[in-house]
Amino acid sequence: MALTGLQIQKLLPKTNCKECGSNTCLAFAMKLAAKKADLSQCPYASDEAKQVLGAASEPPVRCIELGTDRSLRVGGETELYRHEKTFVHQTAIAVNVSDTDSPEELERTLRLVREYELERVGEKLQVDMIAVTQRGGDPARFVSLCTRAQDVTHRPLVMRSADPGALVSAAAATKGARGVLAFATEQTAGVLSASARDNGHALAVTAPDLNGLAALTARLRGEGVNDIILHFETLSPAEHFQTNSIARRGALKDNFRPLGYPALKFVDRGHPLDETVGAVTEITKYGGICVLPSFNAAQIASLMTLRLNIYTDPQKPIQVEPRVYEIGEPGPDSPVFVTTNFSLTYFIVSGEIENSNISAWLVVPECEGMSVLTAWAAGKFTGNSIGKFIRDIGLEKTVSSREIIIPGYVAQISGELEENLPGWKVTVGPQEAGDLEGFVKARLHS
Ligand code: SF4
Repeated sequence: MALTGLQIQKLLPKTNCKECGSNTCLAFAMKLAAKKADLSQCPYASDEAKQVLGAASEPPVRCIELGTDRSLRVGGETELYRHEKTFVHQTAIAVNVSDTDSPEELERTLRLVREYELERVGEKLQVDMIAVTQRGGDPARFVSLCTRAQDVTHRPLVMRSADPGALVSAAAATKGARGVLAFATEQTAGVLSASARDNGHALAVTAPDLNGLAALTARLRGEGVNDIILHFETLSPAEHFQTNSIARRGALKDNFRPLGYPALKFVDRGHPLDETVGAVTEITKYGGICVLPSFNAAQIASLMTLRLNIYTDPQKPIQVEPRVYEIGEPGPDSPVFVTTNFSLTYFIVSGEIENSNISAWLVVPECEGMSVLTAWAAGKFTGNSIGKFIRDIGLEKTVSSREIIIPGYVAQISGELEENLPGWKVTVGPQEAGDLEGFVKARLHS
């Protein structure tokens, strides 16, 4: 059960020394209860406090670190809905290969997984994991494919086999790589949990229903196995959606530890639309790892874009550095545009200017990552602030042009901007970035 601030305070030294950054032990206890502080910030916490609070202060969904350098994290979630605060670790996207794939197909998929890169709003996105499934009867082939997949892609592995012996061998062959063994059942949990622990892997566990799964994870936790990943045996996307939601709600709202782990799903091979629906369901609610049945660049691009929308932190808008950007090869007399430093806005506006086949200067003042209208409403994108930014960076020394084009949505700041930039003409551009190309052709090429 979660502890209250007063319960936690009783476990603290009560000296109010402030070294944790809070004025009193009670204030620190309240932060701990709200999961806004970590017990390690108090240098005087007793062993008893560490033991009691250690368990109580874990996130309700355990964070599992994967990969040789432990840089891929899944789980660690604290909220049921993103808007309540933020989601912490996005669903890891994996691509599956099987030991029955042809050698050419295998090598091609591994290479595509390694080389795939998608750029969205300045972020470079890649396939996170590679999954290897044993479908044939040769354990040695499965094991060698696991090591090959790891060597080629340098991605954390999901190793899936119905043969516990093959999984044990694959776990040993990839020792220290921090992959996932899939799946342990009630019958195989003993041997597979020992293998996962000895070789530094996480263990995905499965059972016919949630009650069975909870009993199995509780048993493993009692045996000291902590890096657990849940696999739900469900019959339809609707059932999967429901089961995943029940598990997450139980972990977050009822602090039900046996279901407080990230989930793993293998999307069934089928019609691309059905595959995508399965993957979308997993990304939106509440998958930790989503394994796609094959490499499909269009599908992966769509899923990564969806994932970016869901897992960006609403409290920290993605932003670009405030400065003057060169579009093409602008000269002193090239036109000057201005927009905000919200990444999405910046990339759309700069892309549309590029599409217009002109070179230009794009002035991007500090707007705390807000879009044009939001920044204007918040007083961060005003004639005063834009004028000051342009004067501070000395734009007049770089450009001879004395005309600046502002977004049409903030036409009302043109007078104030002209007052702040004596000698400049302010031109109101289109409201929508998509109309920039037509605007440029009509105004600047005429
Ligand atoms: S550092 Fe520890 S003892 Fe000091 S005020 Fe914070 S909680 Fe209390």
